[in-house]
Amino acid sequence: MLKHSKKYQLLSRNTFGIEAVAENFVEFSNEEELLAFLDGGFDDKLLVIGGGSNLLFVNDFHGTVFHSAIKGVELVSEDNESVLLRVGSGVNWDELVEYTVSQGWGGLENLSAIPGEVGASAVQNVGAYGREAGELITKVETIAIADASKHIFLHDDCDFSYRHSIFKAAEKGKHIITYVTYRLSKQPQFKLAYGNLNEKVEELGGATLANVRKAVCMIRNAKLPAPSEIGSAGSFFMNPVVPAPVADALKQRYPSMPSYPTASGDVKLSAGWLIEQCGWKQSPHEHVGVYQHQALVVINRGGATGRDVLDFAAAVVKSVKEKFGVELCMEVNVIA
Ligand SMILES: Cc1cc2nc3c(=O)[nH]c(=O)nc-3n(C[C@H](O)[C@H](O)[C@H](O)COP(=O)(O)OP(=O)(O)OC[C@H]3O[C@@H](n4cnc5c(N)ncnc54)[C@H](O)[C@@H]3O)c2cc1C
Repeated sequence: MLKHSKKYQLLSRNTFGIEAVAENFVEFSNEEELLAFLDGGFDDKLLVIGGGSNLLFVNDFHGTVFHSAIKGVELVSEDNESVLLRVGSGVNWDELVEYTVSQGWGGLENLSAIPGEVGASAVQNVGAYGREAGELITKVETIAIADASKHIFLHDDCDFSYRHSIFKAAEKGKHIITYVTYRLSKQPQFKLAYGNLNEKVEELGGATLANVRKAVCMIRNAKLPAPSEIGSAGSFFMNPVVPAPVADALKQRYPSMPSYPTASGDVKLSAGWLIEQCGWKQSPHEHVGVYQHQALVVINRGGATGRDVLDFAAAVVKSVKEKFGVELCMEVNVIA
């Protein structure tokens, strides 16, 4: 049944643990409920949220917040090599990963333990340990807010790239995602080259889907804060990508600087390393700081407002720019 609440507190709906009140909160559990609600037109300010793990509320939200509670994982088709799974946008992301691993279907294992829900995986093109969700997404089903029409975006329509999709660009704010379809492999191709993943998997007995999932969870637990304990939105900034000559010049000055060549010839730098070099792990701020084990993660030390976090982030960006000449961009979705 559709739930409609007024003056809804969003504190438990964002992993940063920021207080903000939505004028209206609407939760639907199937397409029909949403279509019926939108029927007749909708012209309020709008925000769609999933698990709220990549959001920063700076003010109360003077509009309507939608949340999909569409559940279900449907096996659409299978052959000897792969399965096609159509998944409700309100399914918890890590529960999906756990289920696919238990079925022996490969593809999502490196993306274990990422907070959030299925709908956002297509918006954010979630990624970790050398894998991105967009590689596996074949179809995204949406309902357009303006006229309550149903739309289908096939893989190539989604324009996936690093933490990016068409839903963050030309189609931003226009659609509510209802289902996402993934193609997963019955003969898993493991991607273990990133960081110490291979080493951890070997320690666990070698490459199986279950071992990769276990290794990823162990590595993540050691360096990322659990949202139930410390408020954050994961990586607050994106890793900057710079032209090779810029990276070379920085390497001359800072030989220990991590750098990763990309397919385009540019070089990806570690935002966490740059932030740490600017001394932010020793930040004196009372309410906001960076996580001790990973400086890329901005944390709510307790009682922070969205404005506190934004001001802190601006100071971090300024210091990195001054020291390295590199511009950091926020990964988190700021809701002003
Ligand atoms: C501790 C921690 C670790 C993290 N690690 C990673 C990581 O390794 N890799 C990574 O990529 N991210 C990571 N994140 C960020 C976050 O988990 C992902 O971005 C995730 O996909 C967000 O999902 P969500 O459901 O919480 O979306 P939300 O934060 O609620 O929303 C994110 C965006 O998606 C839109 N959206 C959500 N649902 C829908 C829908 N149904 N229809 C239309 N638009 C929608 C929202 O409007 C917003 O623009 C981490 C976050 C935390 C807190």
